[in-house]
Amino acid sequence: MTAARRPLKSLGQNFLVDGNIIDKIIQAADIRTEQAVLEIGPGRGALTKHLAERAGRLILIEFDHALAAWHRAQFLENSSVTVIDADVLKVDLESLLPIVPQKWNVVANLPYNISTEVLFRLYGVHSRLARMTLMLQKEVGDRLVAPPDCSAYGVTTVLLSLWFDISRVIVVHPGCFHPSPKVDSVILNFIPRPEARAEVGDEEVFRAVVKSAFSMRRKTLHNCLKSAEFAKTIDCGELLEACAIDGRRRGETLSLEEYALLSRHVIELLPKN
Ligand code: SAM
Repeated sequence: MTAARRPLKSLGQNFLVDGNIIDKIIQAADIRTEQAVLEIGPGRGALTKHLAERAGRLILIEFDHALAAWHRAQFLENSSVTVIDADVLKVDLESLLPIVPQKWNVVANLPYNISTEVLFRLYGVHSRLARMTLMLQKEVGDRLVAPPDCSAYGVTTVLLSLWFDISRVIVVHPGCFHPSPKVDSVILNFIPRPEARAEVGDEEVFRAVVKSAFSMRRKTLHNCLKSAEFAKTIDCGELLEACAIDGRRRGETLSLEEYALLSRHVIELLPKN
């Protein structure tokens, strides 16, 4: 049977085998009656059967063709479950997750090699989501809940905190998986906010500001901002002065509000066509 095949390292296949942790994820996901749920990477189905029992609608995206076929066979008689045999990074999540009749609950023990990219894609559809419960490599999870001025604070911290309240559920030991990964993992809950935590003006500009500020960790904020595309048309010294932010600081010392302020001023200073 498919589920017995050797796990594929290339697909980050560390399957959950600890019943307590599976229960913790299902509890944390807090699936309401008739909830619409997306599971990314259902693997051998450790979480899937619990999700299928609770959800009114369940979509599974699995890139391992054999496992996707196995799930399809399992749920042949269950019309509320849809299996998508695809790379989650190539799926158009916006069309897959319509808001009506309700928002989506995302549950996943993510393959670690693509977890940050998946986070960015989910961030892109935050308005479609009711909640996310995700297992991540602990180092990646730590970054998401890090306060400013600490080495873990980075691009993902700032971007995701704009739209999500993120909380840590529990740290998970490598022994809870087969095969065991080399590092600890963490389960995080992400609750989308009805409104952004700060007024950024334009999200694309905000992203560009944040990404450029963290582009060279050892350089000053001023030098980092100068490498951004927008710096071709605006003077970064003037920008920092208008925001009363010292350009000698490092990107990791700025709060979300300071990034929002920079973003609004970039928009003001950009030439209007
Ligand atoms: N949910 C299962 C569990 O908890 O035991 C499996 C988790 S395992 C860490 C990650 C799963 O994601 C694997 O089943 C793997 O095949 C799948 N996967 C890896 N890359 C993927 C991708 N790009 N798109 C969709 N699924 C992917």
